[in-house]
Amino acid sequence: MSNNDSNLYNNQPFLAGGGSMGEMIRKFDWSKTSLGPPEQWPVELKNMTSMLLTNAFPVLICWGDDFIQIYNDAFRPINGEGKHPQALGGSAKDTYAEIWETIGPMFADVMQGKTHGFPEFMVPLNRNGYIEECYFDFSYSPIKSVDGIIGGILVVCVETTERVNSLKEFQKSEDAFRNMNEEMASANEELATTNEELFESRENLQQLLEELADSESKTRSIVEAAPFPIGVYIGKEMRVVLANKSILDVWGKGYDVIGKLYADILPELDNQAVFTQLDHVFTTGEPFVARNQRLDLVVDGETKTSYFNYNFTALVGKSGEIYGVMNTAADVTDVAIARQKLQETTDDVSALNEELAATNEELAATNEELLVANEEHALINNELAKVNNQLSLAQDELQLAINAASLGTFDLNPVTGRFVGNDLLKSWFGLQPEEEIELHKATDVIDENDRERAIAAIQTSLTYESGGDFDTYYTILNPLNPIPKIVRAKGKALFNDERQPIRLSGVLQDVTEQRKDEQRKNDFIGMVSHELKTPLTSLTAIVQVLNSKLKSSEDNFISGALDKANIQVRKMSSMINGFLNISRLESGKIHLDKSDFNLEVLIENMIAETQFSSPGYLISLSPCNPISVNADPDKIGSVISNLLSNAVKYSQKGTHIEVTCLIKDNGVEISVRDEGIGVKAEDVQHLFDRYYRVNNPNYSHISGFGIGLYLSSEIIRQHRGEIWVESTPGKGSTFYFSIPLK
Ligand code: ADP
Repeated sequence: MSNNDSNLYNNQPFLAGGGSMGEMIRKFDWSKTSLGPPEQWPVELKNMTSMLLTNAFPVLICWGDDFIQIYNDAFRPINGEGKHPQALGGSAKDTYAEIWETIGPMFADVMQGKTHGFPEFMVPLNRNGYIEECYFDFSYSPIKSVDGIIGGILVVCVETTERVNSLKEFQKSEDAFRNMNEEMASANEELATTNEELFESRENLQQLLEELADSESKTRSIVEAAPFPIGVYIGKEMRVVLANKSILDVWGKGYDVIGKLYADILPELDNQAVFTQLDHVFTTGEPFVARNQRLDLVVDGETKTSYFNYNFTALVGKSGEIYGVMNTAADVTDVAIARQKLQETTDDVSALNEELAATNEELAATNEELLVANEEHALINNELAKVNNQLSLAQDELQLAINAASLGTFDLNPVTGRFVGNDLLKSWFGLQPEEEIELHKATDVIDENDRERAIAAIQTSLTYESGGDFDTYYTILNPLNPIPKIVRAKGKALFNDERQPIRLSGVLQDVTEQRKDEQRKNDFIGMVSHELKTPLTSLTAIVQVLNSKLKSSEDNFISGALDKANIQVRKMSSMINGFLNISRLESGKIHLDKSDFNLEVLIENMIAETQFSSPGYLISLSPCNPISVNADPDKIGSVISNLLSNAVKYSQKGTHIEVTCLIKDNGVEISVRDEGIGVKAEDVQHLFDRYYRVNNPNYSHISGFGIGLYLSSEIIRQHRGEIWVESTPGKGSTFYFSIPLK
């Protein structure tokens, strides 16, 4: 045999199979080592080498005093590129020089018959194109000859990378997944128990190995007692020839399986790809490795889901033919479930994270909206603050004005009857500033002559139809102050949507002095008018006597002058009558002297008088039926006379004046229409005020005092009638009044 021979020891049946390491072992020139050529090896070394070559687990044999090494395909990556291929046929002392200090004494012990373990030894392996940290439990046990002489050491490795990595992952996520950790801890405990069992079993295995040294049949026992599942199936039909207790427990089909077909024992695997995998290994010789493979097995009649790392390795006969498949496996269910739970928890946490992220986004959006709303609120608040400032300025100004004008203010809530007033008002009512104004106190202080009228005015203003206006005069008799005070009360009522009054607010103005002045003026006018009336009456009588005596006078001038004197005297007397009436009215001395009379006749008389004194106008009466009314004929006559003389005064000569008289709604309506200068809308509302005259420079030559319409309106009011005007400036006016028929 020479080194050039590509397969130096191909003729040794125990060196058959074993993949690439089998190839290398067969090629290796063992004669140069202390082992010598393989055919001369002791039987126990041959047996062990045969077992090593067919085993899917990493196995190393260190033989002899210099621990010459033989290892299989599974062990090769553990040596890595740094130690392989020099390790094959080399001494373990050299290969593991860096840890020899640790393992050297162990090896020495094993050579003395002891066993040793080296748990979780880290080996960096490049199995998937990158370097990963892998962990192995090493077991060192002696290989004995039939005579009990220890010839070498069997090193068996079980990979624990998964477990170590899982532990690492668990530790990393310890804080986040405390619950998970508990489960992991229990899974770890179980694994630890399994490890212990494994270790125990390894010791058993050791014993079995010792027995194996006795005979080949003992090898079978070792396999059967192995702590991990091992099965051997022969022929394409996969007849079970070897199945250890561990694999029988996994199958859960009892112990009577030897000689039966794999597919018959495990029919539930039919659609789980296992049969195909076995067939592929048997047909091609390529080993099959599954990791964390789920298998649903019917164990003791019940379907049980487990996870396995398992290998199918082809068994090759002497002539290279494949005669069977060896199946080794490790139950990794606990780790798989732990990993699943970890994954589920991770999924839950990431789902939770996504939800939280979504919620965060929503909250952020809501925050932004709130921010915008806040900004808007801030703007509105600013505006409100400005408006408030303006309001309080306006209130201050109002208060100043109220104080400066010495006005009493009041606010009545008609719903609760609460009456509030300022200090000045309280002092007028004889109350102290801190005293409340009870409603009856506010009315009790009104002079009894005015009280009924004032209360009626309040009540009227509280009706929606009145428009809420309150404007009246009355006298206050304060119990603490004997001097009566005349006040003008002016206010406005507010109404709700149901047209119910909700408050009446306003001011009271002390007009005592003003009223006294007017009274003095009225008294003076009354006195003067009265004094003028007597000589004027005499003058009228003299003019009339003269008129009748000189009627037939030839002198045109005298008769014309007397006519004019007569007209002027009439004008003057109507003027003086007006002043007298007004002074009577003011002092409340005007009384109606009612009687039944024919209104048509009265109107005709008044037209005749006016026509007499103003012959330049065409005054007509539209057909008017005889109407009997109950009224004061003198005063109604003075109203008609006033309207006619105004129509004359404020129209051009030659124009037409038309009087009508109609019965309407239980009353009679009289109108006087002219074609004169008319009245502007803004003046119309004041025409019936005392002393009011339209301010028009074009007509300043027209004399008057602004008392005629005032007196007329007072007379009509006393008759419970109405007086009003319709007018178009430049076209003419129509004055109306109506009085009730009954
Ligand atoms: P006066 O004595 O000033 O005429 P009145 O009270 O009778 O007083 O009238 C008040 C004012 O009403 C007048 O000054 C005048 O401006 C206006 N007026 C009255 N009647 C007419 C009318 N027919 N046409 C135009 N203006 C009138």
